Amino acid sequence: PFEYAPAPESRSIVDIKPSYGLFVNGEFVPGHGTSFKTISPATEEVLAEVAEADEADVDAAVRAARRAYDKVWSRMPGRERAKYLYRIARIIQERSRELAVLESLDNGKPIKESRDVDVPTVAAHFFYYAGWADKLEYAGRGPDPQPLGVAGQVIPWNFPLLMLAWKIAPALACGNTVVLKPAETTPLTALLFAEICQQADLPPGVVNIVTGAGATGQALVGHPDVDKVAFTGSTAVGKAIARSVAGTRKRVTLELGGKAANIVFDDAPIDQAVEGIVDGIFFNQGHVCCAGSRLLVQENVYDELLERLKRRMSTLRMGDPLDKNTDIGAINSGEQLQRIRELSEVGDAEGAERWEVACDLPTKGYWFPPTIFTGVSQAHRIAREEIFGPVLSVLTFRTPAEAVEKANNTPYGLSAGVWTDKGSRILSIAHQLRAGVVWANTFNKFDPTSPFGGYQESGYGREGGRHGLEAYLR
Ligand code: NAD
Repeated sequence: PFEYAPAPESRSIVDIKPSYGLFVNGEFVPGHGTSFKTISPATEEVLAEVAEADEADVDAAVRAARRAYDKVWSRMPGRERAKYLYRIARIIQERSRELAVLESLDNGKPIKESRDVDVPTVAAHFFYYAGWADKLEYAGRGPDPQPLGVAGQVIPWNFPLLMLAWKIAPALACGNTVVLKPAETTPLTALLFAEICQQADLPPGVVNIVTGAGATGQALVGHPDVDKVAFTGSTAVGKAIARSVAGTRKRVTLELGGKAANIVFDDAPIDQAVEGIVDGIFFNQGHVCCAGSRLLVQENVYDELLERLKRRMSTLRMGDPLDKNTDIGAINSGEQLQRIRELSEVGDAEGAERWEVACDLPTKGYWFPPTIFTGVSQAHRIAREEIFGPVLSVLTFRTPAEAVEKANNTPYGLSAGVWTDKGSRILSIAHQLRAGVVWANTFNKFDPTSPFGGYQESGYGREGGRHGLEAYLR
């Protein structure tokens, strides 16, 4: 049963202002355009009114970034830039509870994820790239690599702070300045990060945050003085951006959608695999580009695996994102909930069998129970299209070759998982999979030292690790 028990003491540690401006040239300024409301998807409570940056605002931010680039940041020795990045990393650690609570309020994700996964990984990214700032000659670009200039960065709502860290930390380490646009449903932690930049005495203009919807993003990536575009989001928007910057001087990296196969062989440690499947698709309500949304099970362990999976799913706790016992939080927006519902209905209509965890859902907020579809075939839309929610499509296979063939039968290629007791099989399967990352006997693990990114329609370029520096150097 669903119990909604607000946790006022957690809520009270964040100081949410009634309205927010844009962060340009080291200061919060009112926008020229209109504003929009950001809400808590668990309660539909309005959290704040946020400025919607128009073209003139974006232009002011890009000009501030250019000045900071020319006059300060690109001239500063790497070890000096590192000091700022270390300072930011330490402040993130000091303010981690506040960042986690605000992230969970604005996004709907469980506090135990924002507190134990998102925020620590964000700090780790800043520490990691701080360490690179004075060692760029080792980044594989010759003795004296140069920054690119002003980076225009657009990010999605599923990991608002983590996507910000993936973009800002390497850009700054390499000597670029940035204008970042967070997603319209989750602007608040980016604005708190702006405050952290002030607290760290980061020179004005090195980081600028412009809030708004798609039109703001479009103005940013289309601005003639942006040298580098870094985008994470849907494949449709990524393609539109790639088209719009074709023939300009801009460099582009795209981190787009996915439909990852999580492949379980009959010799896999089965309980461990069940945990990995649950983590793979229900972590962050399935709002994960690399989510293990297609489960491929070897036929002879299908019955046992499904039974154990359903049993495990029934123990998941869905509810208040600020309750530390919650496993599954709220769907990020009404629009996203609608998309999940529609594709699930397509699954029903195509003859797949739906099973969901029985639970009462509250009347307020956006909720969808952990769900699996069995009897799914390759032709079904739920086997091919990204649902981006807590919905798992289950398929079966007999031979390793069939598993590889089915796993690769997708326009995407971001990630995959392999579960088996045989090390040699892990290697042989991993090499045949067209996926940027392959996890073995685990899933959804991230580390700043590891590059992440896709093949095919999941985009190009890598973020994380030494490879992540490439995107910001020439
Ligand atoms: P989206 O593409 O709708 O929006 C992403 C961002 O782009 C938002 O900030 C949005 O305001 C902005 N935007 C929208 N239209 C734009 C335009 N024409 N020009 C410039 N910016 C524009 O995606 P979403 O629904 O917010 O995010 C979900 C998608 O992101 C999923 O497909 C998911 O797989 C993908 N994603 C990928 C990764 C990765 O690393 N590959 C990580 C997280 C999410």
